[in-house]
Amino acid sequence: MPNTERTNRPAAPANIGIFGGTFDPIHLGHIHSSMDAARQLDFDRILLIPAHLPPHKAGTHASASQRKQMVALVCAHFDIFKLDSRELERTTPSYTIDSVTELKQQHPNSKLFFFIGTDSLINLPSWHQIKELVELCHFVVSTRPGYCPASLQDEFFKNKLTDDIALVKQKSAGCILLLETCQLDISSTQIREMLKNGDSVSQYLSTEVAQFVDENGIYPEQNSRTK
Ligand code: ATP
Repeated sequence: MPNTERTNRPAAPANIGIFGGTFDPIHLGHIHSSMDAARQLDFDRILLIPAHLPPHKAGTHASASQRKQMVALVCAHFDIFKLDSRELERTTPSYTIDSVTELKQQHPNSKLFFFIGTDSLINLPSWHQIKELVELCHFVVSTRPGYCPASLQDEFFKNKLTDDIALVKQKSAGCILLLETCQLDISSTQIREMLKNGDSVSQYLSTEVAQFVDENGIYPEQNSRTK
């Protein structure tokens, strides 16, 4: 008798990580911490979504096309990452709620985990339609060992913050998971500043991105090469 059990059983819901950012440029802090989160939470993939018009930023330094190319280089090197350019294709501001709503429609059986750093956590209550957003996904906050979110007084955080991975895995959405991940203390702003000052940034960028920044003179004020 044929074994039909495997074919009849619905596919297990996939866990999808979502990592949105300006990525100006994408750096090893983004890459290592999100890969570590993926390992701990069994993400099947991490979508990297470069923002076109970040609502909270005045503008970008590299062009949308250059930021997309840098993210594509990272995706070509690390299997788990997939470029998702939906926000770059919009002409309206990039609100996370729009992208996550679309993703939920496209993957109704998947759990969505939206990845942020601790610097973004405090601003989370002011994100556009945050109450609707947190009903569609979990947030995963990459933290250092011993991180204590003392200043998070906003009512929004009540009953959502946890460091319990097992609990978050049981729920479909609505948690803000504080997750210790391997950390690299760097930001894109610092990298752009270091380039301006002629300092080496090679330890903060993947080889491909470093080469791309060099060869294309992405940051015009750049005094140094990435090596
Ligand atoms: P900028 O300095 O230009 O603001 P950034 O380095 O903070 O850039 P973004 O693209 O703005 O990078 O950030 C996207 C997300 O990545 C944010 O949620 C931010 O908190 C997170 N992030 C930034 N740097 C790190 C890092 N070193 N480790 C973990 N997460 C990070």
